[in-house]
Amino acid sequence: MLASIPSAIVRGADGHPVTVEVHVGAGLPGLTIVGLPDASCREARDRVRAAVLAAQVKWPVGRITINLAPSGTRKTGSGLDLAMAVGVLVANGDLDTEAVRDLAFLGELGLDGTVRPVPGIVPLVDAVRGGSVVVPVASAPDAALVEGPVVRPVATLSELVAVLRGDMGWVDHPAPTASASVKAMLDLADVRGQPVVRRALEVAAAGAHHLLMVGPPGAGKTMLASRLPGLLPDLERAQAMEATRVHSAAGLNLGGGMLSRPPFRAPHHTATNVALVGGGTEAMRPGEVSLASSGVLFLDELAEFAPSVLDALRQPLEDGVIRVSRAKFATELPARVLLVAAMNPCPCGEAGRPGACRCPDGLLARYRRRLSGPLLDRFDLRVDVLRPDVEQLLGGQPGEATEVVAARVEAARARAGERGVRANAELAGPALDRWAPLQPDAHELLATVLRAGRLSARGLARVRRVALTLGDLAGHEGPLSAGQVGTALQLRAEVAGVQGVAA
Ligand SMILES: [Zn+2]
Repeated sequence: MLASIPSAIVRGADGHPVTVEVHVGAGLPGLTIVGLPDASCREARDRVRAAVLAAQVKWPVGRITINLAPSGTRKTGSGLDLAMAVGVLVANGDLDTEAVRDLAFLGELGLDGTVRPVPGIVPLVDAVRGGSVVVPVASAPDAALVEGPVVRPVATLSELVAVLRGDMGWVDHPAPTASASVKAMLDLADVRGQPVVRRALEVAAAGAHHLLMVGPPGAGKTMLASRLPGLLPDLERAQAMEATRVHSAAGLNLGGGMLSRPPFRAPHHTATNVALVGGGTEAMRPGEVSLASSGVLFLDELAEFAPSVLDALRQPLEDGVIRVSRAKFATELPARVLLVAAMNPCPCGEAGRPGACRCPDGLLARYRRRLSGPLLDRFDLRVDVLRPDVEQLLGGQPGEATEVVAARVEAARARAGERGVRANAELAGPALDRWAPLQPDAHELLATVLRAGRLSARGLARVRRVALTLGDLAGHEGPLSAGQVGTALQLRAEVAGVQGVAA
């Protein structure tokens, strides 16, 4: 007899429907899985058999063949286990075909019959569409984020069998307690002094301009960077859905809540290519860049990241997307991040203070070489962060609160919206000429800097975008002034210890 059970797999951040076809017939006892299963998917054989026996159902005597359709795409992971087990029981006549009508099944099986969560429940449920979907209890709140299917949580295979045989109704499992992941918002008002960096953060948030902070240990670079997401507007519906899918696909539990605020990700400098950009398995697990999409990616100790890792970042930053193409599939992951990086001016951290640096020349040269020019060139804003002085720490006035700055950022973003982009960093070519023309003295200032070889063509476009953002924040209309351009140039200044790139 033949059974046909709907389920799904996840690749990148997208779910794809899979039909699990099970045939039980005469022949030598055994179970074969066909339809391009990967290793973990093939291992389902042992899990499914043990789980069925644990559910007190006898295992079919004949030959079992499981086909995962469409057969041309690679099936990854253990999320098809539950659908396979149900398929075996239907094909063997232990469950009625009618009982599983309009039901899809997602989940891994333990040897004792426990139904366990798998990464990507949001994209998986999204791929199923319509009807009802049976999911592990722990995944139910996240599964319910997807509009459409009725979510049916089950704890074990034996519970599911009892429900499908009509011996009992669907069990009303209490929602698992969400991991309290809601962090108190970090407020800019906590930052004493640092007027230049505060300005740079505001400009970065308003125009989505990448920011590099250079300064000694203890200057507060991490504290400043972590306050950037608070300046960004709430995610729009499409961004929120995308971020939610990516986090789910990465195996993170959302606790039943959609992401509504821009994410902040701060991978350690020992992070590998795969951890940062994604991939690793056939499932193409999202990396830190995709998890930070629509939010902030903070790379602390930038110079300590492996050069190959920084190199792997360049294309995603340029395109705003990571494209993966493998033999059996192609997929895309989002990578629209606001990049904020921090680094010490030199290995000892003291190069900013005259005469204080004790680094040997060779070490210093190696440190500086680790940052490739093309990556450094991506930063529109490059500022020195100095240790706050004693007076500021003791008696300084609290700075403006996040709420106040965020309101200016929102107004600036609204003006960018009138230009057809989310933020000024996206303006390019003719659009930039149209929206950021120059007053004569601004023109003259840029001409001087260009003639002196202190600005590249790419750098020029970046300075104009930043100048436009400065104008938006100040409520300025019309062509860019020399004042705006001058400030934009200052915010892109050579930073202590980092050289070799035209400002
Ligand atoms: Zn040093």
